[in-house]
Amino acid sequence: MEVRRTVPVKLDVDSNDAALLEETVDTFLWCAQYVTDHAFKGEYVTTSKTTLDDKTYDDVREATDGFNGGLVQAARNKAAEACKSVVAKWKQGKKASKPHFTSPHVVYDHRTATFHDDYVSLATTDGRIEADYVLPDENSDTPHAEYFFSDEYETTGAELHYSNGNWMLHIHCKMEVESDTSEQATPEKSTVLGVDLGVNNLAVTSTGTFWTGNEFDHWRREYENRRGDLQEHGTRWAHENMQAVGRKEEGRFKLMMHRISNELVAEARNHGCSVIVFEDLTDIRERTGASWGHKWAFNRLYEYVEYKAEKCGIDVAQVDPTNTSRRCSQCGFTHPDNREGEAFECLKCGYENHADYNASKNVGLRYLRRNQTGDDGGAPLGVRLNSGIVNVNGEYESPATASGQNGSPR
Ligand SMILES: [Zn+2]
Repeated sequence: MEVRRTVPVKLDVDSNDAALLEETVDTFLWCAQYVTDHAFKGEYVTTSKTTLDDKTYDDVREATDGFNGGLVQAARNKAAEACKSVVAKWKQGKKASKPHFTSPHVVYDHRTATFHDDYVSLATTDGRIEADYVLPDENSDTPHAEYFFSDEYETTGAELHYSNGNWMLHIHCKMEVESDTSEQATPEKSTVLGVDLGVNNLAVTSTGTFWTGNEFDHWRREYENRRGDLQEHGTRWAHENMQAVGRKEEGRFKLMMHRISNELVAEARNHGCSVIVFEDLTDIRERTGASWGHKWAFNRLYEYVEYKAEKCGIDVAQVDPTNTSRRCSQCGFTHPDNREGEAFECLKCGYENHADYNASKNVGLRYLRRNQTGDDGGAPLGVRLNSGIVNVNGEYESPATASGQNGSPR
């Protein structure tokens, strides 16, 4: 399986090179428009790259005074794809008109760009230029570091964009990960890690590992206080400092979510899980009393887990959260009175456990039930618990080797 990512990187461009890049953008867009205009000339819109190439390449090269051949072809591809999507819309009975290329950009590939560790060389209307990457200071734990500086990823091309006074390179990377399309899924390959998100505990897994919200709450109060102090000053200096506090706060919480996401993915790997399941986050504030800050953090956490898990060949999914905190994960009985704060006690079967842990098991079970209606050849499925696996029928299998280092009873 292939994982693809796009990493935006700012370029350090001096004024001479900027002028060249502007000219390159203009020429690229002109080429794409020329080919598109040609495609729309006849009775039918031409969408074949070969035909468009045959009909326009020489004219375009001549009109542009020998614009880089690779860039001419990239512009032609851009035009052909835009024309194709117009035709596709028409076929669906939707309205669409001839594409116009106005957003300033250039599409690069390995013939027209060379990606070095800290700079890029780009073809322009007049030979090549070199531009350094401007990278964030703490690139140790950002997506930049994850993809771009990873030897496992290879760059496949890039788009140069100009926006808000900055030259940005959107670099495309790809990586091969172990395929999990083997015909016969092994039991390990279809084991699910359920995750419950909340305020008191930011995350709890069906394996019984808890990530408490204490540190998160501590830092939220801390930043609130700092902002409060600054607000009292009301000066411009204070206003600017408040923005700096906001940036620091965001940075700290992002780092925290990176750390938790790493640990969640490790938890899934250590327990041989092939899927990490979260509840749908849309209405999480209403359900859990979470603040906007929590919701922001949960969204980051989900994103980080998603891209980190993908690299290990682990899927990430969301399920409908209805009643996951009120349902008994042992017998299925659902009642609001089953739960009292952090304590869960089933009114029907008497099952007792931490409410968030019970919920995390329900999240995993819901995924299993949803996917059992499919026809995946009856591969054994289960939710991974700290002391074994429970399958969709509620049957419990104890593991061959007890892991149980996480300390929460079943
Ligand atoms: Zn019960």
